[in-house]
Amino acid sequence: MSAEPPKQGPISEDIAARFSHTMMAMAEICNFISTANGFWAGPLNDNDATKIALTHSELSEALEGLRAGNPKSDKIPEFNSAEEEYADAIIRILDHCAQRDWRIGEAVVAKIRYNATRPFRHGGKAF
Ligand SMILES: [Mg+2]
Repeated sequence: MSAEPPKQGPISEDIAARFSHTMMAMAEICNFISTANGFWAGPLNDNDATKIALTHSELSEALEGLRAGNPKSDKIPEFNSAEEEYADAIIRILDHCAQRDWRIGEAVVAKIRYNATRPFRHGGKAF
């Protein structure tokens, strides 16, 4: 008789629930601030393609920061450039998901659990 792997995978139900709850709460905060700052006003702002493009721009800023030696952030000097720009990307994603009532916290947990079941390099990918 072989033991079945736990259905919860590498994340316990307790950690999953707390992570999802916290992530959703942070998404609501990001969306509140973004809305108050006018970033959902008008058709150019209330646009999924714009939000995705702006998230891309934060990742490009992270790459450019690394290309420049990952200097200290100008805005939050206790962090480096990559840390700041990754934070910006996450903030934009959380804001977008909250605006659309998308369940980003639960989706992250579900995707981590799914990825843990995938084969080495997802079945033969080079990288
Ligand atoms: Mg940025």
